[in-house]
Amino acid sequence: MAQLTETQRGIVSTIRDFVKDEVMPVASQMEHDNEYPFALVERMKELGLLGAIIPEEYGGLGLDTVTYALIIEELCRGWMSLSGVINAHLIMAYMVTVNGTQEQKERFLPAMARGEKRGGICITEPNAGSDVAAIQTRAVRDGDEYIINGSKTLITNGRHGNTFAVVTKTDPTTQPAHRGISIFIAEKGPGFEVIRDIPKLGYKGIDTCQLAFDNYRVPAANLIGGEEGKGFYHIMSGLEVGRINVAARAVGIARAALEAAIRYAQQREAFGRPIGQHQAIQLMLADMATQVEAAHLLVIHAAEKKNRGERADLEAGMAKLFASEICLQVATNSMRIHGGYGYTQDLPVERHFRDAPLMMIGEGTNEIQKLVIARNLLSNYPSGDFIYESGL
Ligand SMILES: Cc1cc2nc3c(=O)[nH]c(=O)nc-3n(C[C@H](O)[C@H](O)[C@H](O)COP(=O)(O)OP(=O)(O)OC[C@H]3O[C@@H](n4cnc5c(N)ncnc54)[C@H](O)[C@@H]3O)c2cc1C
Repeated sequence: MAQLTETQRGIVSTIRDFVKDEVMPVASQMEHDNEYPFALVERMKELGLLGAIIPEEYGGLGLDTVTYALIIEELCRGWMSLSGVINAHLIMAYMVTVNGTQEQKERFLPAMARGEKRGGICITEPNAGSDVAAIQTRAVRDGDEYIINGSKTLITNGRHGNTFAVVTKTDPTTQPAHRGISIFIAEKGPGFEVIRDIPKLGYKGIDTCQLAFDNYRVPAANLIGGEEGKGFYHIMSGLEVGRINVAARAVGIARAALEAAIRYAQQREAFGRPIGQHQAIQLMLADMATQVEAAHLLVIHAAEKKNRGERADLEAGMAKLFASEICLQVATNSMRIHGGYGYTQDLPVERHFRDAPLMMIGEGTNEIQKLVIARNLLSNYPSGDFIYESGL
């Protein structure tokens, strides 16, 4: 498993300190107040996190997928909302890095790495989420520009971001429908409006918005990759990394819930001894720790495969599915262990419990995840022999 270099260890340890000293003390209050973390985002910029996986030649830190996953896990131990600020931004940067033209990389990546341009991904529409090919937002060519009309919803960074990868149909008649999809880099301006901020169960403090495009004009030079009809493939490459990130977020939340439970089980007494001495509590702790460890290893396994330059759709799907499901179970058990206090806003457990379900939805719901896993299994293992990476 992941042998980190000194530099990688140093980066993860810096983020752990940042989370302990600056995030944990304020996270619950800010989340309850639904307060946007302006100062923490500025600190994240100073730490280079807005450019974490942007290549060094464009001013980013150029981190590998394993290190990035470890950073996300640490951030989410403190406050999951913070990871939304960089995840959506960096998935967009990743799409531009992998699929963009040289001119697009030079125009957008350095400013994104500095956090001046703040990104997000606009796929979901009021009538199309999992079924991406059913989107209705249209982009029609007009000279050197395209005119975009449509509506996007549940968009992370919708209010505080300014530069988005907007998924459109440039050819609504092509079959199969996904071949008519193209993605544009859209900067806020006339015709691009935030319609509303969407209230949520958890993941508070971070903007999730409905956006409208009304005859919004975007330069043709902002068509990612410069070629129409490639958007679906760009989304799939972005989601592969996005799923590793969501899995890492889930592990971070689950770890925080586990750690809180371990501490509480040693402090709280019932029937004359710490509750951690009661076997019922021990059994829960044992299950929780095993689940967290297994989820963490799945994330690292998928990230390592990605680091080797291979597609990791199967492993990323498995990591996302497992980590998000155990995240909710661990958060629930942590609440049980905390008794009535776990249900109050005096302790962070209720926040973990509210943040956990989003992990089952983001970057493709878990039902879709199972379809992805099954499709990869059936195509990668036609003989039925399921050979592990190690060859054993
Ligand atoms: C807080 C938050 C932030 C988000 N941020 C973003 C963002 O930044 N950008 C963005 O584009 N989107 C974002 N989303 C949207 C998210 O990606 C979608 O909600 C998700 O993809 C599911 O789409 P949907 O909500 O339309 O559900 P639907 O697609 O309508 O699904 C409804 C149910 O049907 C199931 N289902 C659908 N199809 C199948 C099938 N073929 N087989 C079996 N079951 C199926 C689903 O699993 C789900 O259970 C965000 C969502 C939330 C809650």
